[in-house]
Amino acid sequence: MAGDIRFDGRVAVITGAGNGLGRDYALEIARRGGAVLVNDLGGSGAGLGASHNAADAVVDEIRAAGGKAAASYDSVATRAGGEAIVAAAVEAFGKVDIVISNAGFLRNARFEDIDDARLDALVDVHLKGAFYVAQPAYRIMRRNGYGRFVFTGSASAMFGHAWQANYAAAKGGLMGLSHIVAIEGSAYGITSNLLMPTAQSRLMAEMDDGFMEIPDFARSVQEADYSAVQDRLLPAFNTPLALYLASERCQATHGIFSANGGRYAQVLIQATQGWISPAGSDAPSVEDVAEQFDRICDATTLHRPMTVYDEFNAVAAAARERDAAA
Ligand code: NAD
Repeated sequence: MAGDIRFDGRVAVITGAGNGLGRDYALEIARRGGAVLVNDLGGSGAGLGASHNAADAVVDEIRAAGGKAAASYDSVATRAGGEAIVAAAVEAFGKVDIVISNAGFLRNARFEDIDDARLDALVDVHLKGAFYVAQPAYRIMRRNGYGRFVFTGSASAMFGHAWQANYAAAKGGLMGLSHIVAIEGSAYGITSNLLMPTAQSRLMAEMDDGFMEIPDFARSVQEADYSAVQDRLLPAFNTPLALYLASERCQATHGIFSANGGRYAQVLIQATQGWISPAGSDAPSVEDVAEQFDRICDATTLHRPMTVYDEFNAVAAAARERDAAA
């Protein structure tokens, strides 16, 4: 299918759209004809304070360019806030077709120092925040038979980053949320994908290099050579993939995608073929598992379950093969 990807007649809710990545998504969806509900609480990179300025500035920019936008200043971090954000989109534009769940901030610290304040704030904004906006939007999409969810994950959760246990725990949860929305939404024309973006944004100001005290991790940081991609670590390099996933043309769902320095990739969750224990109802011993551990970890043969039942089927097929070979 050729031609420009457009969002005419579509209504997008973009959370945290007052700065960084969300701002760029909002401007580009509006430039391509979509109406955008620009949500932003307007706080700092550590999630402190609130202001209308961030959302208003983006709405003004979209309208000045002839686009359609409305502002919402509610926090995603409460159920009432999520409902108010979706209601604002419906009030301004009559429906919701797209949700790009993007609001968030960092409060990094050593794992053992993460208290409830640092944990709850991050779970509230990233995990519950995405849930609270997605749920009322999903009900509308289901009625309309069309929807696109783009949840914002993070390489920190999928691959690992020191001093971000609170952030990674919350972002990791979004993978599960996106998978279930994708499975249930498939009956109603709704897709859901997780995007792991990368950009120099004000979030970087929240990074503390205290994690360099961890030798192995510090080595991976020191060996990281960004020079070939430094000038591509911009929000604009994430927008093409985010908008494709949010578009009608994209039929992909239940996926995890990475945008990083101009490289766009799918990130896969796979299981090794593993070790099938001997037939019968006796469970193997701990020692059996220790003995077979290399085989359990052998990544030369992989499969990719898309549901719990896909995994059962793969296990049952391997057990049948074992029995046939016996
Ligand atoms: P940013 O700070 O520039 O933008 C985030 C926006 O979210 C801010 O405008 C902020 O006011 C808003 N926000 C914060 N709490 C909110 C709340 N409770 N309700 C509504 N809005 C709220 O940061 P960014 O780099 O553009 O990050 C956007 C998203 O991408 C975040 O979820 C972040 O965790 C994720 N992410 C960013 C990177 C990166 O490299 N920048 C990497 C992985 C993931």
